[in-house]
Amino acid sequence: MRNLICLILLGLSLTPAAYAWEDFYILKPSEFQIERTPGQRFTPLNSVSCRDRIKQVICLVDNSSSPNGPRKCLSGSENFAPPIEKIYDILPEKLQKAFCGLDAIFVESDVESLAYAGIIRANEKGEVEGSFIGVRRTLLERAYDATSVFGWKEQKAFGIVAPPFVHLPDGPRVEVILPNTLSALQYIFIHEIGHILDFANSANEFVCPPNETCDLSKWDPTEFGKMVPAANSFSSLSWKNPMYPQDAQRFSLWDKLCFYGCNERLTVLDMEGFYQQLGQTNFVSTYAAVSPYEDFAESFAFHVLSLQGEWNYRIQTPNMAYSLEKKWDVLFSKKSWLEAFYQRDLKYPKATK
Ligand SMILES: [Zn+2]
Repeated sequence: MRNLICLILLGLSLTPAAYAWEDFYILKPSEFQIERTPGQRFTPLNSVSCRDRIKQVICLVDNSSSPNGPRKCLSGSENFAPPIEKIYDILPEKLQKAFCGLDAIFVESDVESLAYAGIIRANEKGEVEGSFIGVRRTLLERAYDATSVFGWKEQKAFGIVAPPFVHLPDGPRVEVILPNTLSALQYIFIHEIGHILDFANSANEFVCPPNETCDLSKWDPTEFGKMVPAANSFSSLSWKNPMYPQDAQRFSLWDKLCFYGCNERLTVLDMEGFYQQLGQTNFVSTYAAVSPYEDFAESFAFHVLSLQGEWNYRIQTPNMAYSLEKKWDVLFSKKSWLEAFYQRDLKYPKATK
């Protein structure tokens, strides 16, 4: 996972190649090729509202293709629009606007994560021009409750293998009650839009310090490790460099934290120690501690959900209970950073296709 984090950074540092991982893609326009269904092709995309765009860009795909190559939207793609339109209707306007910049919402039948986001970088300055989101098909076919979905995901970090979205008794127990209590999709879309807004607005930003040279042309952990958070960036609140948290936020079990594509993982024996250690940091959730990018997307989701109304995100271990929405309430530096970010005149990707 740590290596994959750096692939994103390479993608951002003007190298010609595009990189991908399960949660985030950075593509060049030539790598994003989509063939829409006949019904979608007959409506010009620039004449529709952000909500109408959902059925224009929804794209059911088969397992043989990935976002960084030609993709064909299968017939019946439009049938997956209604559950997303339902989420759109309850999102704040600032997030609804992000749908106008989406080139695709891929419906995937075989992904390890719940969903992913991606951006299309169209020019040499690395400016974001287009964006897309991918989501697991089953999440659109059934309105899974947030407790099952996020409980299943949390337990994955402790090496528990269960069919989606089964929440077993032997790992940490999660209870998530969202405002409006629609489904897990509400949280997932807010998180993924958070990723897109992070990149479009440089919320996370790392720079090479003065009097230092950082050769980012290829993956070299020493070179990337020299990068430091830009002053006042979101990254500066918790991260020492793109790979590691600041010493005050780094805890011993952090080194084993991994959700997808892992060499090493936590086990259920680490559970009590892990949550006690995480509780001392300014990471709002387990997933937020994975990387600066997940830290932002998770913090963004907590900020937006708190604006939407009463909600709960609880984690229960045999010995302790943690209330994450209450933790967010006292993470003053991140909370005020997100409040100011959300008030900004935010930049949105413009769809390219
Ligand atoms: Zn994410």
